[in-house]
Amino acid sequence: MYKSKRNAYLTEDAKILLGEIEAIIKPPEVFTPDEVNSLNQYQCSGFHPFTCPNRGSQHFSNGIDLGVLIPTTRGWICQYCDYTQDWAHDFMKNYPKVEEIYTIREIIRDGEGA
Ligand SMILES: [Zn+2]
Repeated sequence: MYKSKRNAYLTEDAKILLGEIEAIIKPPEVFTPDEVNSLNQYQCSGFHPFTCPNRGSQHFSNGIDLGVLIPTTRGWICQYCDYTQDWAHDFMKNYPKVEEIYTIREIIRDGEGA
């Protein structure tokens, strides 16, 4: 709505040109916010996290591992260099949320007790 008001004074050609410019400069959404949350859960899960391929020099640990990649909606980023990555395995994008892990643990525990 805001956008249509903002562009109301533009000619049709200008609107088309503006759309093309915005498509070029707007970073593409690589992962949804839910997928970023899942990827973050995965990175902290204890499985080997995705790490920067340049982590051999001037890369430090963020408490998880050396040069761990950080998921964002614009893709993975490295905190220490310009490395980015735009893909993840599907199981990582759908990694169980913390609450689901606790539920799974309860089911296993209850199953063992029976
Ligand atoms: Zn890096």
